[in-house]
Amino acid sequence: MKLRLHQFLSKTGRFASKRDLKEAVWAGDVTVNGSVVKDIAFQFNPAKKEVQFKGETLRLPSDEITLALNKPPGVVCSRLNSQEQSLGKTSVFSLLEGHFSSSQFARFITVGRLDEATTGLLFLTTDGALAHRIASPEQHISKRYRVTLDQRPSEASLMLLRDGLEIQMEENGEQFTYFTQPAEVVLVQEGHVDITVREGKKRQVRRMFSAVGLEVLHLERKSIGGVDLDGLNLPLGAWVDLSRADVEAMVAQDAGDKRP
Ligand code: URA
Repeated sequence: MKLRLHQFLSKTGRFASKRDLKEAVWAGDVTVNGSVVKDIAFQFNPAKKEVQFKGETLRLPSDEITLALNKPPGVVCSRLNSQEQSLGKTSVFSLLEGHFSSSQFARFITVGRLDEATTGLLFLTTDGALAHRIASPEQHISKRYRVTLDQRPSEASLMLLRDGLEIQMEENGEQFTYFTQPAEVVLVQEGHVDITVREGKKRQVRRMFSAVGLEVLHLERKSIGGVDLDGLNLPLGAWVDLSRADVEAMVAQDAGDKRP
């Protein structure tokens, strides 16, 4: 949708008054796709062109929503298909029902997935581009899990988990072996381990512990990048609205530190 330059600048909230924004344009401080535009009535599509004021990129306020949720056990991270419905499954999206407009509700997606039994930090967002950036394997965003095991793991098992090991995968009916990347692994107390990974293969953490002969009794995601579940104080099933700036800062901060 096309807007006039003065309308766009006014919507950004960057200027104290209409007079200020007009003067900025007339002074040549505003560029559209790198070219100075001195006509306040200049028409353009903000989705296709970048506007800068003295080198600072200006954006329209977005209506996208991103939530940090403490996922309870027994909910799946997808909209239910008919088979899941007939099995009586519950979708994580049902927790949001009635709290958002129907068009917003329909746009929510999860950023990656947690298994039905896994609890803990899960992002849900209406912003597909943001979800893609956070979940993308190239970003190497760290994810820390608290694992409750059936027994105290041996030092040898912890070393294997740290260094990387072979796990058995299955995708589209095809079985293959995957070698995991190095992970941070800390024995917190008897039978409780914190593991931080920067990749996200399906059921990866459970498969890693199974590869060293350990049974996972409970799995909880404690953090994603710089966002820590314990700092959010969320009961199971509750969520908090994260600003886009918070999420961007978290991604940028963590992407700068790619040590395993
Ligand atoms: N790894 C798993 O095995 N399960 C999860 O839910 C998340 C990571």
